[in-house]
Amino acid sequence: MIPAGFEYARAGSVDEAVGLLGGDEDAKLLAGGHSLIPLMRLRFTRPSLLVDIGRLDDLRYVRDDGDRIAIGALTRHAELVRDPLLAQHCALIGEAAAGIGDPQVRHRGTIGGSIAHGDPASDLGTIVVTLDAELVARGPSGERTIPAADFFAGMFETALARQEVLTEIRVPKVPAGVYLKVERRAQDWATVAVAAARVDGRVQVGLTSMGPTPLRARSVEEAVAGGASPADAAARTADGTSPPSDVSGSGEYRAHLAQVLVRRALEQL
Ligand code: FAD
Repeated sequence: MIPAGFEYARAGSVDEAVGLLGGDEDAKLLAGGHSLIPLMRLRFTRPSLLVDIGRLDDLRYVRDDGDRIAIGALTRHAELVRDPLLAQHCALIGEAAAGIGDPQVRHRGTIGGSIAHGDPASDLGTIVVTLDAELVARGPSGERTIPAADFFAGMFETALARQEVLTEIRVPKVPAGVYLKVERRAQDWATVAVAAARVDGRVQVGLTSMGPTPLRARSVEEAVAGGASPADAAARTADGTSPPSDVSGSGEYRAHLAQVLVRRALEQL
């Protein structure tokens, strides 16, 4: 199908994008277009105006920011894969990005778009929740920082206000981290995936496709902190989750798969 008709404007700056969003309540930002355009083609969404921020190259960077790494929201998945700073200080981001879609998706899709889209199957959404990242957004009243724990409000719903642009993602430097993903076919979305990392001396674990948002496996984390073995801690993976049943697998299958992946991730940390 082809999308319904829409107007198009290319923003030359974040402030201009914010202004354009303010002028049309059915406007949407366009970054890499690899989640939005498919939805428009299916007519699940019909924005009246697309505000293209895809060429804002000043939002395309990975920088050392002391004990954190700052990533511009327009940084492409392929750039995350080959970035040396991330490889050194937060390697699980590159690992996760390398498993997203195919080369075309990785060269167009952006980290900001992946997170702002609020898809529970987003690999990078789970990573930011696992790492307690900070998400920086700019809107009409200036800039604010949203903890990743408060960002995902529901399936495809986030804490971003209508006129806000996600500009930067700040992640801690971590000494160890792993992202394990199982998909039905090569280059597919995760049936289930698991992130695990040592953050400030604590083991933190996140789950992809185990509920309406990216989730933290808090019971697993508590068990690890209490000295449980990887297998015993992983037995608590499904606590507080609501895995969906769909063509990729039943909820029961997902719960089992997640437990296996959590055990393996803990063993690898
Ligand atoms: P867009 O599609 O441009 O935008 C998505 C949404 O976010 C829109 O609502 C837009 O308005 C909003 N938005 C975009 N940028 C911002 C911003 N800076 N601030 C505020 N709002 C913003 N993803 C995975 O995680 N794992 C996969 O395995 C995977 N496989 C894929 C396979 C295929 C074939 C395709 C087409 C996509 C796949 N994706 C996968 C999704 C891919 O990662 C997308 O690129 C990503 O989800 C969206 O990023 P984008 O830059 O393309 O955003």
